Amino acid sequence: MQREMLVLLSSLLLVPISHHALVVGQNLLQNGDFNDGLAHWNPGILDPGSVTGYPKWGTRVYQFRGDPSAFLDAPGGAFAFLDSDFFLLPHPGILTATMWGNHDPVVLGVQVRIEAGPIYVLDSFDPPKTEFGQNPVTREYTLGPELVGKSIAIRLLCRSEPVYFVGTFCNFDDVSVTSESVATSTAGPSAEYPILHGQYVDIDWSKFHDQPEVAAWAKATADAQYQYLAGAQGVPSQHIRRSLIHLDTGIGGWAGGGEVEVRVDWFFGLNLASPPESGPSASMSQRDYSLQRLDAELYHEIAHNMAVVARQGYRPSWFTEALGTWAQSSVSQDGAYTRVRAQMEDVFWTDAAYDNPDPFAGYGKGALFLWWLVGRFGIGGLHTMVSQCYGYEEPWISEQDIDERGFLPWTHMTRDQLSRGFYDSVRSGWRVDIRLVVNEQHVPEFAGSPVFTVALLMTLVICRLAITKPVFRRGGMRDKPVPPR
Ligand SMILES: [Zn+2]
Repeated sequence: MQREMLVLLSSLLLVPISHHALVVGQNLLQNGDFNDGLAHWNPGILDPGSVTGYPKWGTRVYQFRGDPSAFLDAPGGAFAFLDSDFFLLPHPGILTATMWGNHDPVVLGVQVRIEAGPIYVLDSFDPPKTEFGQNPVTREYTLGPELVGKSIAIRLLCRSEPVYFVGTFCNFDDVSVTSESVATSTAGPSAEYPILHGQYVDIDWSKFHDQPEVAAWAKATADAQYQYLAGAQGVPSQHIRRSLIHLDTGIGGWAGGGEVEVRVDWFFGLNLASPPESGPSASMSQRDYSLQRLDAELYHEIAHNMAVVARQGYRPSWFTEALGTWAQSSVSQDGAYTRVRAQMEDVFWTDAAYDNPDPFAGYGKGALFLWWLVGRFGIGGLHTMVSQCYGYEEPWISEQDIDERGFLPWTHMTRDQLSRGFYDSVRSGWRVDIRLVVNEQHVPEFAGSPVFTVALLMTLVICRLAITKPVFRRGGMRDKPVPPR
């Protein structure tokens, strides 16, 4: 969806995963610290590149680390890997690795191989370069339920473009796999789709194979914000589902069943929308404003799609749409592709929700209601409700459930009472300060402790933010495209 709500984008930061409840176990990988050379690691070549005698591999001791680490050196277009020995993954787990480059750009890859099975791509990136004073990066990846009980190996890869020859290293240290306890891994429903961290988005290029700009946008914006959106919604890392994104002409989008469709007319100069007359976007060019809407659209659909959804349960669209719209509006960074600043459309959100007769303004009202709740009662209760809605805690079966297990434990009030309070607040001039709430509630760690516990004066007006038609489509909800205003 994406109506008159704005929002923005993102940056390329990778947010550390902080949601897994790990019972710390032993490292299932042997010699993951490489203190025993490359024992239990098996190198191989995928492309020799143009330099005789390369690619190379081994271990070395960098002064700034003081103990051995592994390297792959892949100049001139070479492509090499290190495979760990196979091992059994008893429960969902976490793979951790510390990685860095030296001088020239490389593509460092992290994958999981299933013995006699497929390879899963967890990550692919140009690592920080220590010769330019940058620090190694430590990343975590979830090894999800689809890998449990299987014999797997970790594959570390390195390649370069043919034009690079200087210090084309990928370095690895402290690679570990720890498996979660049974207690934390049995809570979720069975996954219908692959759930993995690192590379979150596959894109179907069938229509846009000749449009590299579209490809660059989709890749940069989607992967960049995936973890942010998951964190904002409190989706546990082991339940994050990858998305296959389809791009098409037109506007709007939908999500469901592990797939996301986003219409990208804006890239072709079609259906450009004018910025609103007031608010931070007022001075934007039509092009920038339209790209901003496109980014918001993508985030909204991904927010719908990323959670594993139980087959059973009650998921009203007033909640799922409010949540998707709230999540998209919480993205506060510049766009990865557009570099357009979101400006957090505080005024816009509030005004649009109450001035606009468009039925889809209900999405904006719902999002605003969530902002109002999070600002007053903290984000923890919302995360609990997300878990219930998507069924990785016990799913809802009725509106009554939503009050009894959602709103009441969180706020000590029912949805009706809260709706009246919310409506009153807005009528008395309350305007959300999204940036403030984001900063206090869930950036950068999404920890979500209650900040405001302001008591509310309740009166009596029914909240009309709801589109209460229950949505019960396996895995997601569909959003109709609507014309720009
Ligand atoms: Zn939606």
